[in-house]
Amino acid sequence: HMSNRRPIVAGNWKMNGNLALIKQMEALFSNAELSHVDVVVCPPFPYLGGFNGSAFALGGQTISHFESGAHTGETAASMLQEMNCQYVILGHSERRADNNESNELVAEKVDVALKHGLIPLFCVGEPEDIRESGQLFDYIAAQLDAVISKVGIAAFNDIVIAYEPVWAIGTGKTASPAQAQEVHAFIRQHLAKQESDIAKQCVILYGGSVKGSNAVELFSQPDVDGGLIGGASLNPEDFLSICLAA
Ligand code: PGA
Repeated sequence: HMSNRRPIVAGNWKMNGNLALIKQMEALFSNAELSHVDVVVCPPFPYLGGFNGSAFALGGQTISHFESGAHTGETAASMLQEMNCQYVILGHSERRADNNESNELVAEKVDVALKHGLIPLFCVGEPEDIRESGQLFDYIAAQLDAVISKVGIAAFNDIVIAYEPVWAIGTGKTASPAQAQEVHAFIRQHLAKQESDIAKQCVILYGGSVKGSNAVELFSQPDVDGGLIGGASLNPEDFLSICLAA
């Protein structure tokens, strides 16, 4: 892939994994030559303290939009920062669906993450019916605009975008490289309407049924700068082959 944007591959463990998986991943990755890519693992919160080596950058899977206080079960941005996280996934479609996270709430969380020095892995993506009804680009634009209007376009220097079509997540139905490229180019053009340099620099990941076998083709698209990986990030060999493809 030809741009000078540095690729990122991030594993989203969702509510999976255990201490044994951390050991396997660290053993495999400690000897791998991955200087061309930033590899991020986003495990469930209890496991953040279980990583020893420096093979991975760490990320959370969400944060509260509150700073601290009486919010049982929630995790603050400052806590992730203290636990050596550099990243946090925000706006994942599972949280939008399971926890009713609106575009506005996601924008608040992006704002809080940035204030605590975390890099948001900000997820956008359409359900299948939106794509079929021809509203794809309006839908993605609205998801982007909620965050742009909250934090400003300059903040996108410190934000990573992940395009994750909902119909491709966990389904084995990967977007074709051309489908991914089309939306990634749209996202970049949408940012460029505000600030073209920021649009050129912004790292945009693809997510949705990425595997070792399709990663090379997806990552070779000009506007695809890496991936956000769910299921395949739980298999150390498969995750490594995806990282090597970036
Ligand atoms: P998947 O999940 O790779 O299992 O499709 C991607 C994600 O939800 O981030």
